Amino acid sequence: MARTSRNARLFAAASKVLPGGVSSPVRAFKSVGGDPFTIRSGRGARVTDADGREYADFVCAWGAQIVGHADPRVVRRIQRRTARGTVFGAPAVEETQLARRILAALPGAERVRFVSTGTEAVMSALRLARAATGREYIVKCSGNYHGHSDALLSSAGSGALTLGVPDSPGVPALWAAMTFTATTNDVEGMRQLFAERGALVAAVIVEPVVGNAGLIPPDEGWLAALREITREHGALLVLDEVMTGFRVAWGGAQRRYGVAPDLTCLAKVIGGGMPVGAYCGRAELMDMIAPAGPVYQAGTLSGNPVSMAGGIATLDILKDPSCYARLEETGAAVQRTLEESARRAGVPVRVQRVGSMLTVFFADPATPLRNLGDIQATGTKQFALWHRTMLANGVSWPPSNYEAAFLTLAHGDRELADLRRASDAAFAAVAAASA
Ligand SMILES: *Cc1c(COP(=O)(O)O)cnc(C)c1O
Repeated sequence: MARTSRNARLFAAASKVLPGGVSSPVRAFKSVGGDPFTIRSGRGARVTDADGREYADFVCAWGAQIVGHADPRVVRRIQRRTARGTVFGAPAVEETQLARRILAALPGAERVRFVSTGTEAVMSALRLARAATGREYIVKCSGNYHGHSDALLSSAGSGALTLGVPDSPGVPALWAAMTFTATTNDVEGMRQLFAERGALVAAVIVEPVVGNAGLIPPDEGWLAALREITREHGALLVLDEVMTGFRVAWGGAQRRYGVAPDLTCLAKVIGGGMPVGAYCGRAELMDMIAPAGPVYQAGTLSGNPVSMAGGIATLDILKDPSCYARLEETGAAVQRTLEESARRAGVPVRVQRVGSMLTVFFADPATPLRNLGDIQATGTKQFALWHRTMLANGVSWPPSNYEAAFLTLAHGDRELADLRRASDAAFAAVAAASA
């Protein structure tokens, strides 16, 4: 075993007290096999495990880290704020400061409500959408993840226009049935759904760049069509930018692709590594939220000054446009490295990337993967071996082919060299196994 005893001992101990040894399922490496490693510390683009092994990190807290681990500017701001008290259950000036920064970056948004997770942001935004429209049904796309709330843990039943069915035991069938399921990048399918059921629909919610089925970029015209169809039928367009917000551009996918949602959900990057979520939109909608309006939504730790401090420090770094130019350049270099290495090994690979998020699929290099069905048809079997070999060669890559990898401002030549060495070995191993 490449990974030695301390990691294994820690995971065994954790498994006695935590279900599956983890606090969130994907961390357990179930889809690639092997024990996960316990991370002791991180700095920049690198993490160190309990055995003292260092890895170039391409997980980056599933996108929450964009500046790099333990950036001194972010750490200092969080430490200074923490020393003066962490939460009071009263307004803190940092809430207004972070709100101003977020609203300045999102053209249509005039008010923001802070919560503690992305799950909570989506739940609350959809409650607001239902209240604002007086309608009860939601449309989502299969393979898009919007957190683990009941109504959103649903996927399509058989047939294109069926009601959602629960994805997990414990989700009431009635709640899952409140969600209609559509297909990413299928404008005709969405039009048809609205032609038949449009009068019931409060909102369409999508990941503008899908990151939770592996990465799927929006087809040209997909987001604009969603804007047009929802407007035509009196439904709201909710963009779940929990992953893409301040990741794919300053402001997020709505800036990158020029689409104007009614409501936006944020989390991950805007907390700078602290727990946070937020939803925002026009004042007329957001002022329906209590106490300005009748739609109830609250939180003991919402807008706590420590999470706000993490977000403020992070956005203050990111507001320099050269940051996104750099993330784009690093992303392109990472993509090139992976593609060249696969080509040298003779393994057909398709890399799908938007800015600093990307996924490697074992599939025809020239055929775009446009929805969940396309991705389910790719070779996820090879992925386990590829992932294991990457890890053994010092690269931490997301332990599932249905996830995106992430880069930070701290990724540079050293990580690119690590990536080249590891991916040469990993693609060679895949080639040897299939020979
Ligand atoms: C991570 C994620 C969520 C859930 O956010 P949590 O903070 O994990 O609750 C929701 N939507 C998208 C698009 C995400 O990537």
